[in-house]
Amino acid sequence: MSDRVAIVTGGSRGIGRAVAIAAAARGFKVCVGYASNEAAAREVVFTIESKNGKAIAVKGDVGSEADILALFKTADEFGTLGALVNNAGIVGMTQRVDEMSAERIQRMMAINVTGSILCAREAVKRMSTRHGGKGGVIVNLSSVAARLGAPNTYVDYAASKGAIDSFTVGLGYEVAGEGIRVAAIRPGLIDTEIHASGGDPDRAHRLAHMVPMKRVGSAEEIANAIVWLMSDDASYVTSAILDVSGGR
Ligand code: NAP
Repeated sequence: MSDRVAIVTGGSRGIGRAVAIAAAARGFKVCVGYASNEAAAREVVFTIESKNGKAIAVKGDVGSEADILALFKTADEFGTLGALVNNAGIVGMTQRVDEMSAERIQRMMAINVTGSILCAREAVKRMSTRHGGKGGVIVNLSSVAARLGAPNTYVDYAASKGAIDSFTVGLGYEVAGEGIRVAAIRPGLIDTEIHASGGDPDRAHRLAHMVPMKRVGSAEEIANAIVWLMSDDASYVTSAILDVSGGR
């Protein structure tokens, strides 16, 4: 995989940032996708380059097919794609299902589900040996919410991650004979800004007592599992979903 390009959607902050830095340290040229926080994306590129790695930042909304096509076009100019990390994702404000608007649910699915599937489509077109590619890896970000359902918080988010689990299994089987491995990580409570974006900045730390390990996880602990899946050390792993959740 040395010198191959890895696209990390949502690579500017949180888990994606940690993945981008860890993937670059392992020799990937990293395409750091981000939605709007240019300063954060630039900081990730700077951090990678200061360690002699290679990275570019690409702005775009994974809820937009046109932006996804532009992201992959830029990545093509950067080098040969070897990995996609479908990391960009959102949560909503705490709400019961009987309070949710159609717009909220559609946005959740457009970004978390359709965006991930469209990015995977573009990655398969480039990496599958069926299309003349050299193979590669797709890692999807699910959540333990797919198992727990997130009642009274964000069931729509949990459902979007349930879709990611099914997608991971199905796509993995579909391309297993074409040199592409597909896997998902289900993080537990991780210390990132996603909780603040859902209006509850203290959520992870407040709920830490419910985790068997009695603590939140770090973005780096998730990134470690992801870069392992991206590596040849995981060469026989596909259609697999790995909980990285302190036992939750
Ligand atoms: P985060 O800290 O909120 O960072 C989100 C990243 O995604 C940012 O880089 C953001 O870009 C980007 N992004 C957001 N919406 C986007 C869009 N429409 N198009 C493109 N990029 C977009 O999130 P995180 O906690 O690291 O979560 C990363 C993934 O892990 C998500 O899929 C999340 O569901 C999953 N996860 C997280 C936890 C947790 O506890 N943190 C637990 C389970 C699963 P900007 O910087 O430009 O805004």
